Amino acid sequence: MLQQTRVAAVIPYYERFLKRFPDAAALACAPEPELLAMWSGLGYYTRARNLQKAARQIVERGGFPASYDAILELAGVGTYTAAAIASIAFELPHAVVDGNVRRVMARLTNDGYVDAQQVADHLLDRRDPARWNQAVMELGATICLPREPRCEECPLSAHCLARKAGTQAELPLKRSKAEPEALARTLLVIRRSGRTLLTPSPRVKGFWDLPEPFPGAKPGATVGEFTHTITHRHYRFTVKEATAREGPKASRWFTAKQRETIPLATTARKALKLYGTL
Ligand code: SF4
Repeated sequence: MLQQTRVAAVIPYYERFLKRFPDAAALACAPEPELLAMWSGLGYYTRARNLQKAARQIVERGGFPASYDAILELAGVGTYTAAAIASIAFELPHAVVDGNVRRVMARLTNDGYVDAQQVADHLLDRRDPARWNQAVMELGATICLPREPRCEECPLSAHCLARKAGTQAELPLKRSKAEPEALARTLLVIRRSGRTLLTPSPRVKGFWDLPEPFPGAKPGATVGEFTHTITHRHYRFTVKEATAREGPKASRWFTAKQRETIPLATTARKALKLYGTL
């Protein structure tokens, strides 16, 4: 839930989610539309689906796995999460490597191409892997800062090769990022007898959204505009009123009450708010 989101914004989602799905069994048998509705607004919906897959694996296996390899087999769990759970929950000797740890390892060794996992595994304190992992992540988050590392306060400064060489600011090497894509789209608000036409979202699988222009739709006045970002795509949406005899394939009409029970895309929410029906 915390990916690309502030902790304060996540807390109400987290509490609601745990209330509705208090254990793996409850999450495992949840209908997907309800799961997505509970996650709606957090983005990265693959995570919600993976969480449910992992819950099903846990139920099938009769409990949470207690070895690194078995934790790694859970859907959505990569080496970072598996090492974090294995070390913090089960005190197993696995080094966690996140962005903070990668930076600390690159600077300690003064090597922009270093295999951070290998160095961290080598340095790991096997007597207390949980504490070691949390300490290195915290060091990266509070002392070995990306821009201005606070080397005078750093407990590793005597061992740090980048500090010795004065190359802290150049490490770690930057990865080239994909250019964000700017896209313009139109959403149509088509209403009939108090109901609104929705189609399966072309952007977020499993969600309903307002339709984009389709053959047979007659766009009218512009209601407004808003922007919305999904991973590296920056959208500008124009919202228009429209009429149509029939909706496109797979579309359906929903009352306001029905809309509350389905996974409704954030873009539809923003558009309907502009229109004044949310
Ligand atoms: S001495 Fe400076 S660059 Fe080296 S690990 Fe500590 S904070 Fe980071």
